Amino acid sequence: MMSNPNPLPPSPNAPTWVPVLLDQVSRSFEIAEPEEILAWALSTFNEGLAIGTAFGVSGVVLMDMALQIKPDAEIFYIDTELFFDETYELIRKLEDRYGRAFTRYAPDLSVDAQAERFGAELWSRDSDQCCLMRKVLPMRRALQGRTGWVTALRRDQAGTRADTPIVALNRKFNVVKVAPLANWTERQIWQYVFDRQLPYNILHDYGYPSIGCRPCTQPVREGEDLRAGRWRGSDKTECGLHL
Ligand code: SF4
Repeated sequence: MMSNPNPLPPSPNAPTWVPVLLDQVSRSFEIAEPEEILAWALSTFNEGLAIGTAFGVSGVVLMDMALQIKPDAEIFYIDTELFFDETYELIRKLEDRYGRAFTRYAPDLSVDAQAERFGAELWSRDSDQCCLMRKVLPMRRALQGRTGWVTALRRDQAGTRADTPIVALNRKFNVVKVAPLANWTERQIWQYVFDRQLPYNILHDYGYPSIGCRPCTQPVREGEDLRAGRWRGSDKTECGLHL
């Protein structure tokens, strides 16, 4: 555990943050506990902070930590309307547990309207376009006017996430992006879940360490990356939110 370095003044506007100072903060947090990083983000960005979750096991841990520090912290998610039934069931359980609803952002087009306009099963022909409409654009709305964005990204989830900074300026959404769990391992995450007796997506017990939309998520095999079941059979590794 370390003391909060916080050399940065709170800012009402993310672009005024100096990347080199953010880099210093990020490096100083390398040995900090996730709760300490979260507390820093909550107090630094205040109402400008948006805490996102996709209801994977890391996202469940992240929201639990945040709500213990600040029970009324806003938690949001992007509902692509293509989640597994098990994911919707988990959302219900979590909302029951915390006695509150999470803020939901959805695509402009329903799945049927998308099929009418772009043809059935766009995800099988142009997954980038599908992710843009069903994830990235709703995320843009979710982060509009925000200064900080907390995510549940972890470095051990995939080779492409191995260099995830704990704190960095994110120019795509014009916010400071904070990843308090970047250094945590799959084992630490599950230990936390069991210690706190948190609900989790039952699909994790059936070979799905990473769970996204139904059409684009498959189980992984022994020894594969935790995200190897996402967009299996294509070069795609990320939906575009974290690129
Ligand atoms: S993960 Fe698949 S179904 Fe979901 S938005 Fe992306 S392409 Fe579409």
